[in-house]
Amino acid sequence: MEKRKKNKLNRHTIFRNKHIKRILKFYKDLWALESATSLLGWDMETYMPPSSFSARAIVLSKLQLFYTKLIKNKQFREEVKKAKAHKDLTIYEKAILRILEKEFKYYDALPESFIEEWKKTTTKAFGAWTVARKKNSFGYFYPHLRKVVELSIKKAEHLGYEKHPYNALLDLYEDGLTISYLNKFFAPLRRKLPRLIDKIISKSIFPQHHELENTPYDIEKMKQLNYKILRLFKFPFQRARLDISEHPFTTTISLNDVRITTRYRGVSFKESLFSVIHEFGHALYELNLPTAFEFTPLASDLSLGIHESQSRFWENLIGRSKAFSYSNYSLMSNYLKFLKKYSPQELYLYFNTVKRSLIRTEADEVTYNMHILLRYEIERSLIEGKIQVKEVKEVWNEKMEKYLHVVPTTDKEGVLQDVHWSIGSIGYFPTYSIGTVFAVDLYNKASKKFDITSAILNKNYESISQWLKETVHIYGGLYQPQQLIKKILKRELDSNTFIDYIKRKYLEENF
Ligand code: MG
Repeated sequence: MEKRKKNKLNRHTIFRNKHIKRILKFYKDLWALESATSLLGWDMETYMPPSSFSARAIVLSKLQLFYTKLIKNKQFREEVKKAKAHKDLTIYEKAILRILEKEFKYYDALPESFIEEWKKTTTKAFGAWTVARKKNSFGYFYPHLRKVVELSIKKAEHLGYEKHPYNALLDLYEDGLTISYLNKFFAPLRRKLPRLIDKIISKSIFPQHHELENTPYDIEKMKQLNYKILRLFKFPFQRARLDISEHPFTTTISLNDVRITTRYRGVSFKESLFSVIHEFGHALYELNLPTAFEFTPLASDLSLGIHESQSRFWENLIGRSKAFSYSNYSLMSNYLKFLKKYSPQELYLYFNTVKRSLIRTEADEVTYNMHILLRYEIERSLIEGKIQVKEVKEVWNEKMEKYLHVVPTTDKEGVLQDVHWSIGSIGYFPTYSIGTVFAVDLYNKASKKFDITSAILNKNYESISQWLKETVHIYGGLYQPQQLIKKILKRELDSNTFIDYIKRKYLEENF
């Protein structure tokens, strides 16, 4: 009964208050600007001719200005104030006010001069980062990173915080996220993962390398395979697309236009396939949002951590499962003939190589969280002033040695590998680990409801999508991420469940 009610959310019953209705009318302008911005951003990374970059940058910054103006509109603010005074708002209406007030706070706290300086600094830092990578020189990037960190600390001061300036930055990416939450969350990973990685690698059931990693593939065939997998997943091509970009991503233009990308390097096909599966997970979340949330903050303001849990769920728990390799072996070897000389078990092992690598984006699910922990600890110390920017490279290498027993020999493979800091995204990384861990919790929960392994073996992916829809997607931005996790799991997030899963899969071969 409750399920039916949830699936049939009606706009007229969830948004009743007259001020809320006016707010949503205003909001549609903001939504439209955001939709246009998303489309331009998508185009920039897929089909735009490279020389168009500077003109596109102007368009995007102008749109940002319009957005800022709208968000500061007096009438809009007035309606929000009036709505807030009402005692009988629905939970949906209250959530809208919560989301909008947070956004207002951001725009009100930062002086225009600061926003301009921030924009200039991060644009320059991004450019310097790409050059620094080519030169393989942290020294080249250093003055820019110093400025970004300086401004990030200022930003935290403008925004205000409790206890620790880094909390203000975390909260920007994940509503309500704090250091004390993360310290507790990372503790089991920090304590248990390094030894577990040693054990898994020395047991060597799962290889560190596989021949298929060097095997070239036909790009046309690979494309066909990706489309085939998406069709099996019931990816709704009437409402969605798959394209190509240098870095795979998902973008939402509207609830009926969600776009994902992958890349084709021509060697080691799992990269292209798992990008598709990962981004599919992101897209499905957006595609399954209640239509009643369309054009409202409840559809636009989703948590990054919850979003990543959806992509990781499909990538790690479905795509890297034994059932997936075995049930899709013959299909895959029809497209990629070279697979015929391998067994389904070999395919499974290729999908699940475990090694201590230098690069986060290439890390397997066993070692991945150590890469994030390292970044979390460095960011926290930088904002705290416990380490200086000039020490970052040294600290990075020390932590790599300590956590993964590998040390980068070049800056490109070390401190310069991620784009995040150059564009000012300090406080973003932890959401990756939150998603990775929560995905496992969701899988455990689903397993109690139905036989998910059989569903994968029978390629009944729809039953899995449906469960995710009813369990996670229907809420959209209704709750803060930690509240939503608590509502779904009936407890707080606990990374020990992730450790148990890794043990089961990689030591007991029970997955
Ligand atoms: Mg992702």
